[in-house]
Amino acid sequence: MTGFDPVHPPARELLDDCVHCGFCLPTCPTYQLWGEEMDSPRGRIYLMDLAERGEIGLEGPFTEHLDACLGCMACVTACPSGVRYDQLLEATRPQIERNVRRGRADRWFRNAIFSLFPYRRRLRAAAVFGVAYQKSGLPKLLGKVLPARLAAAQGLLPPVRLRDAFAPLPRVVPAQGTKRRRVAMLSGCVQDVFFHQANLATLRVLAAEGCEVLVPRDQGCCGALGLHAGREEHAVTKAKRTIETFGGLDVDAVVVNVAGCGSSMKEYAHLLADDPQWSDRAKAFSAEVQDITEFLAGLEPVARRHPIEAKAAYHDACHLGHAQGIRNEPRTLLRTIPGLEVTDLPDAEICCGSAGIYNLVQPDAAAELGRRKADNIRAVGPDLLVTANPGCLLQIGKQLDGELPMMHPVQLLDLAIRGLGLGG
Ligand code: SF4
Ligand code: SF4
Repeated sequence: MTGFDPVHPPARELLDDCVHCGFCLPTCPTYQLWGEEMDSPRGRIYLMDLAERGEIGLEGPFTEHLDACLGCMACVTACPSGVRYDQLLEATRPQIERNVRRGRADRWFRNAIFSLFPYRRRLRAAAVFGVAYQKSGLPKLLGKVLPARLAAAQGLLPPVRLRDAFAPLPRVVPAQGTKRRRVAMLSGCVQDVFFHQANLATLRVLAAEGCEVLVPRDQGCCGALGLHAGREEHAVTKAKRTIETFGGLDVDAVVVNVAGCGSSMKEYAHLLADDPQWSDRAKAFSAEVQDITEFLAGLEPVARRHPIEAKAAYHDACHLGHAQGIRNEPRTLLRTIPGLEVTDLPDAEICCGSAGIYNLVQPDAAAELGRRKADNIRAVGPDLLVTANPGCLLQIGKQLDGELPMMHPVQLLDLAIRGLGLGG
């Protein structure tokens, strides 16, 4: 007897890899917050173990402690025994989504998130509403009376520029000078609507570095939010569509400038491993995916960088650092800018609280982690903050509230290449 259904339950051999040493505990944000064993990686693995043996059900405390996990994967980095908590969590969350009936309000809220964020057209409609809402003065008025989750969603809404939200990206951007590479770019959902400038900067930098860039028009959501939240069907559908869109292109790499999207696209091979029609295509596709910083760090720079005299604090997005192991590449890239000082943050391995939909569904824990991250940023006295994930920019931006300029590393590189300085 087991508490899990037969569809990809957490594997017994992965559960048995944990030797309960506790080395992962200090890097776990929820253990730091609450000091509760069941909100640590070791505790969560123990809960999975009990459920796998059929000694506990998935309802109640099991779901609560797994829901409280950010999926930040700091524990995977910290574990000396190589425990694949990432695979355990990704096997467990769909079990919860399939087998646990959530309360009505929770169901409604989660369904609302998944009816909005993966759809660019709906996000654009939401952006129109957001602009009107921000101008109306209602955010101040309603901020104190809205339920916690809606107040959190309101607080995360960035200043929206409708011109950006609706602007299309070019389908093809030619390489400047000698063409060295041909790549395809994922434009993202939230990224393209709310951080369109980061996409434009990515295209300019790639072109300046001698890359022709294809931006397939009919690309959709890559399924990252669904994959990380346990909505397996959603993730599989989006993954197949993304492979269809990009898989047949004759390119050297599929370049992604959103850490969460890149990490899930690299996981397609695992996600579709059991599907005989898709497994080989998924494997080939995942092998082509590269984060923009990973891709650029592998290219000898040809575009001249103008100096930027500033101190940039670099925040490692969890889905870049912990999930993809990409830590040196963004720093290396930033250090190609003359005059720029790149500094690390204290407690750099700890999540800022963004974590996909976490700051929407667990607003209190996320806000506390965001406050701690903002304090660590202030502690190093930077002129700006740089990070490679729109979720982190929204989450940290809410806490810093305009104290500092914030941008994607590629945007800073773009400013240096164009000689615009920080004011550009
Ligand atoms: S993924 Fe992050 S929050 Fe979850 S158990 Fe690991 S370290 Fe803790
Ligand atoms: S997950 Fe790794 S670090 Fe954490 S208790 Fe288990 S073996 Fe130790």
